[in-house]
Amino acid sequence: MNKSKKIATLVMTFTVCSSIIITSCQSKPTSPTEPSEPKKATAETSQNEKATSDENQIQAIRAQFQNATPTQWGEKMPGIISKLPTNEKVIALTFDACGGKHGDGYDAELIQYLQENQIPATLFLNARWIHSHPELTKQLANNPLFEIENHGSEHRPLSINGRSVYGIKGTQNLEGVIQEVIVNHRLIEKTTGRAPRFFRAGTAYYDDVAIQVAKRLGEQIAGFQITGDAGATFNQAQVKNAMLQAKPGSIILLHMNQPRGDTAEGIKEAIPLLKDQGYRFVKMDPYIPTQPS
Ligand SMILES: [Zn+2]
Repeated sequence: MNKSKKIATLVMTFTVCSSIIITSCQSKPTSPTEPSEPKKATAETSQNEKATSDENQIQAIRAQFQNATPTQWGEKMPGIISKLPTNEKVIALTFDACGGKHGDGYDAELIQYLQENQIPATLFLNARWIHSHPELTKQLANNPLFEIENHGSEHRPLSINGRSVYGIKGTQNLEGVIQEVIVNHRLIEKTTGRAPRFFRAGTAYYDDVAIQVAKRLGEQIAGFQITGDAGATFNQAQVKNAMLQAKPGSIILLHMNQPRGDTAEGIKEAIPLLKDQGYRFVKMDPYIPTQPS
């Protein structure tokens, strides 16, 4: 009950307020959930109310964090969910789609394998990838095996003061952090009809202030326990061996945007072996409690 209430709140908070901040994400047609003509007047009224509350919320976040100074930087720290809070023999497979010049591919073989074997997974899509694959994004969202989550607007490490990692420039300031989360949040909601619950930054790096900002914007931080494919650079045996390190509740980070990599091949080897050990595969959403508002 609490979860659906929270989602409803998110939907209320973030629906259709894009006119204030989003400019780059409005070129796509509106989602099939857009109200039909006769309801338009009512919808516009409530949209205005939602826009106001959304902007008020963001102003409050700006005020709260404007002078905050980070003390930590990394992939694993308090506030980042690295595993599911359960002792059940379950594993959350998470697949990033990073987008951009070298990250815009689609591993159809991998997704087909998941579908054929009914393996649920959590898909973290970057805004650039969604813009390249809008119809595919809708198809994936409509498949009950998958949930679509937020992999950032420009695929940047989430930094309040412009830190970089792996040569990738982080967000430059508080406003950058806010935009990195909400632009893609709104794009996913508009494209799929469902607001994302989880955020994973490009590179999966954060500072502690940025984590708090993302959480205040309504998204929890999805880390990982196991690096499954190291940015799809692992070979088949490395992917398999990494996945076989799984423990109850492990979140495994993999990629679905590098079809030339060996991720699909390694997964196909590892999944039957993990099933033999008694593991099953789950989406993150049912296992992560909603954060207190
Ligand atoms: Zn990525």
